[in-house]
Amino acid sequence: MKVLTINSGSSSVKYQMIDTHTQQSLCRGLVERIGISGTCMSHTRADGHKTKISNNITNHQTAIEAILKILVDPEHGILSDLGEIEAVGHRLVHAGEKFKESVLIDNEVRDKLYECIEYAPLHNPPNIKGIEAAMENLPNTPNVGVFDTTFHNAMPDYAFMYGIPYKYYKQQGIRRYGFHGSSHLYVSRRAAEIVGKDYRDLKIITCHLGNGSSIAAIKGGISVDTSMGFTPLEGVIMGTRCGDIDPGLIFAIAARENFTLDEASSFFNKQCGLQGISGLTSDMREIEAAAAAGNYQAQLALNVFCYRIKKYIASYIGVLNGADIVVFTGGIGENSYTVRSQSTKDMDQLGIELDEAKNCEIRSTESTISSEKSRIRVMVIPTNEELVIAMETERIVGQHRGR
Ligand code: AMP
Repeated sequence: MKVLTINSGSSSVKYQMIDTHTQQSLCRGLVERIGISGTCMSHTRADGHKTKISNNITNHQTAIEAILKILVDPEHGILSDLGEIEAVGHRLVHAGEKFKESVLIDNEVRDKLYECIEYAPLHNPPNIKGIEAAMENLPNTPNVGVFDTTFHNAMPDYAFMYGIPYKYYKQQGIRRYGFHGSSHLYVSRRAAEIVGKDYRDLKIITCHLGNGSSIAAIKGGISVDTSMGFTPLEGVIMGTRCGDIDPGLIFAIAARENFTLDEASSFFNKQCGLQGISGLTSDMREIEAAAAAGNYQAQLALNVFCYRIKKYIASYIGVLNGADIVVFTGGIGENSYTVRSQSTKDMDQLGIELDEAKNCEIRSTESTISSEKSRIRVMVIPTNEELVIAMETERIVGQHRGR
């Protein structure tokens, strides 16, 4: 099945056309700076042909129109007719407890998605805009929503409950949910395939480290705990998000800065993490460069980032009663040997030892970076969330056709 995957953010839309039969990507692209001056669209075909277009894309509707146009463009496209798109798969961030599984989107489901906005006010509205634009432009093509939260659905209650009155969970679904589900699922399954063992027999810790970062403990193919919570703010520190903090800090800082609730939310989401500690940037490449040049705050940001990751890995070894594999993925996990090295340093008593020479060589390729002696195998596996979305889309469309 040819599936168009759409990942619609506040000012960008990422897309890929995937053939689920071959599991290969036919083309991929990104529309950036939607509604901001200088919109740019980049489009790359599987044969390496690349195009960059600067045009005036003012909203998600026109972004989807531009994507569909380039897909059938005689020079840059890969389709002769839009009818070749058999389904559209949308990455959706948060389903609350309303959707436990990926879902075929009709008008009723779309309306229910609006009710999930409160769970992820920054992410859900642009996700819905992407869906509406696809429904309008491809009215006869099925749309499927694949949620970031789904993979963590089977977490046990003691792992997802917060220490707050039970009624907030019971009546309003306030609990830990977890995110990056498609990525944790993809790299953990792939790790099992690579080592040639049954996924159901393995204990795997997956570290998705990018602008947003989360870590998951996976036992027998089920995510039993993960570092993000009710929102993607919990867990390790991130590019601009604070990660785990004493909740008392929210009151202390809001009082000092005279913040409204929205201002406090924006502060902890957008001005903290690597950006906040370094005072320089949220970008790990720049943090590493500044730290190497002797910048104290950049080095501190790097140290805090790695220390928090190490604490999660160690605690998940406890949760799982040992681990077979630790996987690094995401822009930082795939590329930064410094982060991989520092966040697994001095863990030989827990069974982790890297082959540092091997670790230094590896960037964005599937590889084992632990030493021969390491009881736990440490791997780098580039993520492929789009493939998970495309395969899920095919499964859900197939289920509905079979009815
Ligand atoms: P993502 O959100 O998964 O796209 O990851 C983005 C993050 O990956 C940014 O902080 C980048 O600086 C970081 N990143 C990408 N390449 C490298 C690299 N070679 N070394 C360190 N960090 C990198």
